[in-house]
Amino acid sequence: MGLLEELKVEVSGCKLCAELVANRSRTVFGDGTINAEVMFVGEAPGEEEDKQGIPFVGRAGQLLTKTMEEAGIPRKMVYIANVLKCRPPGNRDPNTDEINNCSTFLAAQIMLINPKVVCPLGRFGLEQLIGKEYKISDAHGKTFRRRDGTVFMPMYHPAAILRKGSLYGEFEKDFKKLKRLLLKEGVKF
Ligand code: URA
Repeated sequence: MGLLEELKVEVSGCKLCAELVANRSRTVFGDGTINAEVMFVGEAPGEEEDKQGIPFVGRAGQLLTKTMEEAGIPRKMVYIANVLKCRPPGNRDPNTDEINNCSTFLAAQIMLINPKVVCPLGRFGLEQLIGKEYKISDAHGKTFRRRDGTVFMPMYHPAAILRKGSLYGEFEKDFKKLKRLLLKEGVKF
């Protein structure tokens, strides 16, 4: 078993957040290949993800998949994970303890996949991976380069686009920017 598979098994037995453990159908670890050069980090599984054990398969996920594929980024070439690996009951926001409990799993996923570009989707990924001082409305579509060379490009969360359709143009534009960034980083699909 590879290290990523071992981590997935560890996550599936995690009991750190009592309320999440009591309410989850299963953990939702991640989706994609360990060789992915681009990784997306959402917030937490929703109802459909909790049923299927796969991130971003509900309505927001379908919008994410469609928008990335239209920009020339096939979903099967990327890796998708979330800040939390368990669904918060009623899709409430993740709380600070839950985010802290899950943070080592996300950090390990990023380290093992070692993508060239990481795209936090929405506020929770942005705060966790880049910093609490940023707002998604300012930071989306901008690039932040970590000292080890990994580039972070935050984007709106697709659920925000479902709530506010007027943001769709920006979302689409950011994916086109991501495609250009990937080409510049030497990533071809
Ligand atoms: N929203 C998220 O943030 N993650 C998912 O996996 C699905 C919806």
